[in-house]
Amino acid sequence: MKPKPHKAIDWKKIAQNDLRVTAYHEAGHAIVCKHFHIPYILNYLKPTKATLEKKGAIGQIGYFKVAQVTPFRCAVIGWAGVMATALLEGDDEQNCFDYHDTNNLDELSPTDATAVRKTRFRWRALTTAARILRRRWDEVENKAAHYLE
Ligand SMILES: [Zn+2]
Repeated sequence: MKPKPHKAIDWKKIAQNDLRVTAYHEAGHAIVCKHFHIPYILNYLKPTKATLEKKGAIGQIGYFKVAQVTPFRCAVIGWAGVMATALLEGDDEQNCFDYHDTNNLDELSPTDATAVRKTRFRWRALTTAARILRRRWDEVENKAAHYLE
């Protein structure tokens, strides 16, 4: 059997999509911070070199350790990034929770995993993040668009 002709990978398209998804991820963290009245700032959102293993964008939201920051809320903020991208792709909390096995949070970024580990109530933290993001989805979309400007 002849091998299929090699199809060129559209790296530009992949990089654009990675940047968009990362903007939604950071917007998810941001809107949950806003919901809890926790001041936050986008430290960076920038394209990187995309490879088959590594997405072509990185981002980071920082927030201030004010009185509103409880361990449970840290976990909600921690989940909000992946939950925002799950909602963007039409996934639900169960899917997101199953994918990010709660005993093995390796699929989360180290920062997000540390935040999620602050509570034993990980399922509740994830569903809380989902509820906030669904209710405020317009704000998530506006924030992501703003970050991409
Ligand atoms: Zn994150």
